[in-house]
Order: sequence, then structure tokens, then C-alpha cells
Amino acid sequence: MPELPEVEVLVRHLRPLLRGKIIRGVDVRREKVLRPTPLKKFRRALRGAKFTNLSRRGKYLLFELRSKTSGKPARLLGHLGMTGRMFLARKVEPPPKHAAVVFDLGGWNFIYEDARYFGRMTLDLSAVEKLGPEPLDKNFSPDIFARELKRSRQPIKVKLLDQSLVAGIGNIYASEALFRARVSPKLAADKLSLAQVRKLHGAIREVLAEAVAGGSTVPLNFHAGKTDGLFYFGRAPGTPDFYEERLCVYDRAGKPCANCHRLIQRIVQAARSTFYCPHCQIVR
Ligand SMILES: [Zn+2]
Repeated sequence: MPELPEVEVLVRHLRPLLRGKIIRGVDVRREKVLRPTPLKKFRRALRGAKFTNLSRRGKYLLFELRSKTSGKPARLLGHLGMTGRMFLARKVEPPPKHAAVVFDLGGWNFIYEDARYFGRMTLDLSAVEKLGPEPLDKNFSPDIFARELKRSRQPIKVKLLDQSLVAGIGNIYASEALFRARVSPKLAADKLSLAQVRKLHGAIREVLAEAVAGGSTVPLNFHAGKTDGLFYFGRAPGTPDFYEERLCVYDRAGKPCANCHRLIQRIVQAARSTFYCPHCQIVR
């Protein structure tokens, strides 16, 4: 599932491709992904609108447009869910089977494809209003982080997935950050020492920043039937495992820890897999 780094890489890729482009047609093939925006309103707001900018907030893509009719700015929120992809494809290529929304940009289509339709393409921005600070921003300070953790008795791994604590961390980078900080995923959030909070704060920033930097080398062109390792972690046959190679614990159960060479373990917390080294990440 795409987390902050994957979305950031995608936003940087799409921004120059979309800027200045005008939506000539709006083809919604799965109305579900617009929720709660009604189809009519979605079409009316976007037909003829021009893309002016694109940014990221947490795991969301925030498209900025200028409406054709009112000339006013409009904002469109995108989320990739579990399996979503957003890409440009030549209009001569038929949109993929699971295309949920297709924007006609002239010679190109901008396509939101999602085999499971857990993602979003909506005019409703309420989801981003509830998000906590951006982990790579200055206003995400160790002090604020420490204060918020003191309020929770949840295991730290589960708490890190709470998007109102800090935005954009998912299952992969929660496990990776905890390993780098040598903090056990089972430790209750309010039991972390100040030293552990500071280490974890730094580790979160490091793992995310490194993933964004590394991700920029990954090709993002999905058209012409091509796939890449970006959101599927190289599981397509013959695709290099760009991401997996970089991960220290995630999806590495039974493999040796890079630090102590004992075996990485998988446990389940709040119905999600956690990967960690029980030797390096001890509860104390
Ligand atoms: Zn270890």
C-alpha cells in the first residue's frame, strides 16, 4: 500500500505533467470512488477546469484547479487506497479495465485506476483536515510528538498508524522506523522514554526521506502495459525489487537482522503485520 514516500514520488512525477492541462472530458466509471461527492457535482466542477498545481498531504494527493465557469480555484483530493495508480496515457490506448476515473486532457488521458476501488477521487476535503503534522515539516517537533505519545496506551507500532498523530506513515515505514530507533513495536506509546521518543522522531524522518530520495529513480510510466516496482514492491515477474532491497525488517520474517543476524519476526498488532527484531528492539 502506498505511504508518504510513494505518494510524494508520484506527486513530483505528475505535477509538471498536469500543470496547465485542461480537463476536456470527465469519464467516471466507478462512482463509488467519488464519495461523498455526487457525480453531477463532480462533473460540473471539473469539466473545462485547468490543473494549476499538485501537492501531497499525508497519503493524499491534492490537485489544485481553476474552474472554467467561475474562474475560482477548485480542489480535488486523491487517495490510492490499497492498489490505486494514477498516470497519464495516450488517448489512443484504451483505458485499463479497472479505470475508475478518466480525465480527457486532449491527446492524453489522466487515469485513476484501482482494481479494488478502496481509493478516492473526490471534491470532499474533510479527510485532510483531520490529519496530524507532516513528519518532514518543521512543525513536527520531538516535543509535540512526545506530548501526543504520552496520551496513548496503544502499542507504539499501532499508534504510529494513527494519521492524526503524524500523517503519512503506514505499515511499512512504521516497522522500519521502529527498527532504526531500536524501539520494540509492543512498547506502549506512553512508556517510551524521552530518549526513545527523540530517536524514533529522527528515525521516522530518516526512513521517509531516504525512501523519497530512492523512489525518484523508479520509473512511473504505466502506459503501454508496463508495470514497475513502485506500489507493488516488485512482485510483478521480472521487476527489480527497488523497495524491498532497501527495507530492513518489513516483509523479512525469517531472514537475518542486518544488525545482529538473528531472525526477523512477524507478529500481528491490530490486525496488521508488524516485522521486528526481538533482539535489537527490546521492551524497556
Ligand atoms: Zn537484530
